[in-house]
Amino acid sequence: MPVSSEWKRARDEAREHAMELLESEGIQSLPVDPFGIAKSQQLTIQRIEFDSGNIAGSTDYTESGDFIISLSKAITYEGFLHFTLAHELGHCAIPNHLKYLFSDGMPHVSEMGDSSSSIYEYQANSFAGALLMPTDLCKEYLGRVHDQRGIGLRSIRMLSRKCKVSYTAAAIRYVDLIDEAAAIFVSKNGVVEYCYTSPLCSSWFGTGVNDLRRGNALPEGMLTHQIGKDQSAILQAKQPRGQNVSLPEWFGGTETEIYEECIGLGRYGKVLTILLPEKKAVRKSGWKTNSERNLLPLSESTVFVEALKEWSYTGDMEDYDEPVECCELCEKEELRYHFNIENTLNGNRLWVGSQCIDRFKISALDEYGCELDEKESKKKVSTDRSRLIREGEKRAVKKLLHDLQDLDDQFHISNFIKYYEERGAFTPKQLATIVWRVSENKLHGRGHGLKMTIRRQREKDQLLEMQGWRVDRLWPYMSSSQKKWCGENF
Ligand SMILES: [Zn+2]
Ligand SMILES: [Zn+2]
Repeated sequence: MPVSSEWKRARDEAREHAMELLESEGIQSLPVDPFGIAKSQQLTIQRIEFDSGNIAGSTDYTESGDFIISLSKAITYEGFLHFTLAHELGHCAIPNHLKYLFSDGMPHVSEMGDSSSSIYEYQANSFAGALLMPTDLCKEYLGRVHDQRGIGLRSIRMLSRKCKVSYTAAAIRYVDLIDEAAAIFVSKNGVVEYCYTSPLCSSWFGTGVNDLRRGNALPEGMLTHQIGKDQSAILQAKQPRGQNVSLPEWFGGTETEIYEECIGLGRYGKVLTILLPEKKAVRKSGWKTNSERNLLPLSESTVFVEALKEWSYTGDMEDYDEPVECCELCEKEELRYHFNIENTLNGNRLWVGSQCIDRFKISALDEYGCELDEKESKKKVSTDRSRLIREGEKRAVKKLLHDLQDLDDQFHISNFIKYYEERGAFTPKQLATIVWRVSENKLHGRGHGLKMTIRRQREKDQLLEMQGWRVDRLWPYMSSSQKKWCGENF
């Protein structure tokens, strides 16, 4: 979404005012504390309950000429509270906002989310972004982060933590701070809600990247589209996921090597995505360089492609329950599953991610120790991986049941466990009970791996007899075919 020149001017003006304020406050380090600024500017801040749950904050002006900023008590998240206050500080600091704020004689209110189409609100948001994430300080910080993590969502997360702002606020600011072509957008159900592009992104325009505007549907092949269609996938996509994207295929144009990286924004059902030039997306020392550096000293050949042929996947695997491990070949971080590869000439071993076995075409061994061909190897790795995932889920579900029993003497797990062992899933009634107990006992985020079965008529009947709101609660745990069945039978 290229910004019109009028809005661009307004944005730049807002940023200048933010910079002036930072300078006058003598702020030279991150994070910027908007409460400290408000105090030093002698502004009055109060926390109140607004009539509408959608209102985040407001600015009022007393007869004696003082500003009073009100922040909603409903905001509990620090990043959002900071941003809301910085937004209101923008209304106070940008001179011509005064007449906008009180144009209808009422104090101005700012709503939640990026839903505003007013240029004043856009300016106040730009001000807030520039105040909490000052250009010079953030560029210096990101320079260091990019050396470690490369460009992309991981760096955005670091920025959001450093500056104490939300993931999306950091992402919107990020595309202005990096010297690369990049676009970030937030979507829901495969439809774009908003999109911001970096100044260098102009080379992508004239292509369909222009279509990444509010209300437009995403191409189906996009990872964002696939994750965005499935609430449980969104909840599970807590780590960034990426794929190479063919820009001409989806958006037209000539630039071919683009990298799509996205992450689920949790219970709001939204997905945050960044598009980057493919080569820039990997860490400065890229996976190829890393892999060569790690593999060659353990191999007989000194030529990488030859050395790779000495290695095979042994079938040994490990599940760490959390994404805490690193691939010993490419050094990719945040792996939960490890797969063992062995050098058939010297017996050296490495623990790697399944992705590396695939991309380097490392052959797997069958049960007799014979090498499988490329296709069979790929299949074995993917079957093994699914098995690890399934077993991990089963462990997590059983652990959850035991924890519930410990917390709650009304809850007896023996029937649940028995059913789960036999069927690998729960009846609709059982699942509804578990989901309810999980929420009662505040075990949020622990429902991972819970599944329902409706193969038998008795189970189907249970679901059909259930009240709508209870069925809704089971929705995140249903498979796509179960959802389809519900769509046809309710
Ligand atoms: Zn506002
Ligand atoms: Zn790897």
